[in-house]
Amino acid sequence: MIIDLPTCPAGQLSTLFDVAIVGAGPAGLALATEFNATGVRVVMLESGSAGADCQAEDLNQTVTDSVLGRSATAGRARGLGGTSQLWAGQLLPLSEQELSVNPSAPLNGWVGFSVARMKPYWRRAERFFGTSDVGYEAQNWNSSSPLVSLTDPFVLRFSQFLNEPDMGKRHQAALEDSVNVTVVTRATVQEILTADEGVTGLRVAADPAAGRVIKAKHYVIACGAIETARLLLLAGLGTRRDMVGRCFMEHLGVVVPLRAPSRTLDLGLNSRMVGARRMLPRFMTSTEYVERHSALNAGIGLARVLSSPSPIPALKLLRRDLGSPMSLTSSATRREIWMAAKTVTSHAPQVARAVTAAQRRGHKVTECLGRPALSISVETLPHPENRVVLNRRRDRYGMPVPEIRFKPTDSEWRTIKLVAATVDDVLGRARLGRVTHDTLPSSVEEAIADEHFVPALHHMGTARISPTERTGVVDENCRVHGCANLHVAGAATFPTGGLSNPTHTLVALSIRLADRLKDELR
Ligand SMILES: Cc1cc2nc3c(=O)[nH]c(=O)nc-3n(C[C@H](O)[C@H](O)[C@H](O)COP(=O)(O)OP(=O)(O)OC[C@H]3O[C@@H](n4cnc5c(N)ncnc54)[C@H](O)[C@@H]3O)c2cc1C
Repeated sequence: MIIDLPTCPAGQLSTLFDVAIVGAGPAGLALATEFNATGVRVVMLESGSAGADCQAEDLNQTVTDSVLGRSATAGRARGLGGTSQLWAGQLLPLSEQELSVNPSAPLNGWVGFSVARMKPYWRRAERFFGTSDVGYEAQNWNSSSPLVSLTDPFVLRFSQFLNEPDMGKRHQAALEDSVNVTVVTRATVQEILTADEGVTGLRVAADPAAGRVIKAKHYVIACGAIETARLLLLAGLGTRRDMVGRCFMEHLGVVVPLRAPSRTLDLGLNSRMVGARRMLPRFMTSTEYVERHSALNAGIGLARVLSSPSPIPALKLLRRDLGSPMSLTSSATRREIWMAAKTVTSHAPQVARAVTAAQRRGHKVTECLGRPALSISVETLPHPENRVVLNRRRDRYGMPVPEIRFKPTDSEWRTIKLVAATVDDVLGRARLGRVTHDTLPSSVEEAIADEHFVPALHHMGTARISPTERTGVVDENCRVHGCANLHVAGAATFPTGGLSNPTHTLVALSIRLADRLKDELR
């Protein structure tokens, strides 16, 4: 059943639930759907509503002077489905290489995890997403890539795009019909209540209702890496070794111009339809490359640049904002949409030509506009000083606003420059194009100042998995160290980020957590 807190009678939520989940994004929804139609009584508390919700978005405000800029606020959504209302729906599970311990990382990686251990949960995650295993590794594909020369320094993988990315829409009907799962919308958890024995309840605020306390045997915080840190810091939970909020990570991209790019390069890096699925080739640094150069996991893709004003970001913005709950909420957003629409219409002939060409080749429209450039993405390492803390500013519920301190380091910049030079060398020798890597700034400080970094909006870390609370917040079963009935679901738990998109892995981890909780409740 789905109910709205402000209109819910006071007595309706006074029962003791087995599991209380905070947040109805992919992480929370995966847990809830695993419990659906079982004997486990579940309550899922979601700050936004079941439809488009403008009001809860202001609660996403953050303070940051980092390379994240506005993206930390605008790159998150409240409501059923969470940020999957905005995301691209691109799935790629973490590879063995990403799940191993990177020797350059200042702290431990995925100790005890492997592809073999995660694979059963991947399959269930794909059912949650409404898709199946399409073969993410190149060896599963008969056709070889036109960019075979790149497969020495890089490993070729394929990610898939979902046809219906909004997980709220996908699971809403099943949750409405559920007898044992109660989803409560417009219910913002303000406080985790504790006593010696662990968590005793969640104080929930709603407009205009007064706060209520929801009680359960087990609690799961699944509200994204930034909000999860905020709630744990406020409650002082998992904070004995001051690790909560630390090791915040993002995937960062840098766009480097290409000279004389060949059509083969275009064909080799663009996404394509395979049956009913859109697949994207992903060239990622191989284990040998990472070890030989003491580099980080990195990958390349194609970006499009136009001389300003560019219709590419404009088209993307339009597509995102017109279909998003944030649309038309603030005058700033309205202004951006207006500017974007103007930019697209002023490039109408170019847009029309690109649309026709894209349709003919089965490519995505936004990929086919503008001059091709190389986009290099890199993982960021788990540095304790990259962190979420509580700012003095307060939101409308009086909660301190999260402040994000995040700075890429020399390691990330060194890898980007190294990859740019390698790709230039390989493409140059194969006469496929050149990468103008010599134009990149020499230091990370310069790159930050010149705004070279583009965040991917993959927020990770802040409640990392670690064998001990000296280096992390949760154990390998995502249980908060020192608090028996409190768990975390989502990319907050990632000890290292790898390069693959995070949501496939975080949903698989949620499903694994659901199994653990079912065992405990038996
Ligand atoms: C534009 C964009 C594109 C992206 N593309 C991809 C992609 O292609 N592939 C990929 O893997 N990832 C992508 N991502 C990232 C992806 O969206 C996230 O990894 C994913 O949504 C995280 O799921 P989650 O459930 O952990 O958190 P969220 O989806 O952020 O959900 C958290 C939920 O918790 C709720 N909440 C927060 N605080 C509280 C509170 N105090 N009380 C109650 N509820 C609360 C929020 O309202 C929200 O609904 C993209 C993100 C963006 C913004």
